[in-house]
Amino acid sequence: MRLNCPCCGPRGLEEFTYRGDATVRRPAVNATASDWVDYVYLRDNPAGWHRELWYHAAGCHAWLVVTRDTRTHEIADVARAVDIACHDRKSAAS
Ligand SMILES: [Zn+2]
Repeated sequence: MRLNCPCCGPRGLEEFTYRGDATVRRPAVNATASDWVDYVYLRDNPAGWHRELWYHAAGCHAWLVVTRDTRTHEIADVARAVDIACHDRKSAAS
């Protein structure tokens, strides 16, 4: 599998580290203990398209959001996490 890093171009998987589910959102400060347990310990194991966090450890050190089919390993999109976070903040503000 190769990932097309937006900064470095196509690179082998050995340069990246999988860092988890990109769809998980941190609960509010006043969330219940149950919400925090879910956030820390519970993850879905989807069969199909999924957004994942990857870190380009042997390259540019960018955090990436990879949209990948977990059944076929087909990759539909690779974007810098900082760009997605900024876009989400702008969308929430408008
Ligand atoms: Zn890179």
